[in-house]
Amino acid sequence: RKFEDAGLHPIMLQNVSLCRYEAPTPIQAYCLPAILKGQDVIACAQTGSGKTAAFLIPTLSKLMGKAKRLAAPRPNVAAGFDPRTDAVRAEPLILVVAPSRELATQIFDEARRLCYRSMLRPCVVYGGGPVHEQRIELQKGCDVLIATPGRLCDFMEKPHILSLRRVRYTIIDEADEMLNADWDEELKKIMSGGDTNEDADHVYMMFSATFPKGARELARQFMALDHVRIR
Ligand code: AMP
Repeated sequence: RKFEDAGLHPIMLQNVSLCRYEAPTPIQAYCLPAILKGQDVIACAQTGSGKTAAFLIPTLSKLMGKAKRLAAPRPNVAAGFDPRTDAVRAEPLILVVAPSRELATQIFDEARRLCYRSMLRPCVVYGGGPVHEQRIELQKGCDVLIATPGRLCDFMEKPHILSLRRVRYTIIDEADEMLNADWDEELKKIMSGGDTNEDADHVYMMFSATFPKGARELARQFMALDHVRIR
């Protein structure tokens, strides 16, 4: 199988080739068609399998086709950004939740490469990082948000910074790790926070090495009955 035959947006194909990804890894070969069709996905995946690109490539590619219409409002950063007058509320379309700062940063780096020359702007927020700087980055416009659960919930509670109402794709990465760290309630709140308009077809994906009871519960509560399982 080839990336060229997957039906990706031309900008995405170019970025995949800039990343020097020649052929899809097995998990990418399974995820690409399912996600491009708009199906919910549960995948059993280890680090190193190419799981990050497996969810980023198809979701970003789908939005690239609609980016002009969907991209978040942007302040004129080039003219000098003043958070007091230029800030916009971040309303991401894609939300990726990951258990640690390290993983969130890795996902962000890959998202940045895959968003190159598109209208999509990724941001990352994580616990232990500088709140003020992360807030300013969010308020410069954010289409793709990568976050750890605690910091994400902190930002959700503050007014005028972040709203999840436009989220169409929610990706839960290393779900078992987050449940081990007792983020159950936060995950429920985050997964309920997106576009709840039934016509909008909110897509959920969950990646995990194991599927403990808590993960199966989240899947039952939020995912479509005809979700795809990849092991
Ligand atoms: P991950 O499992 O997402 O942590 O990815 C592991 C590594 O594989 C990362 O450094 C990626 O940049 C790389 N990678 C992802 N997809 C491919 C691919 N199709 N071909 C070659 N390398 C890849």
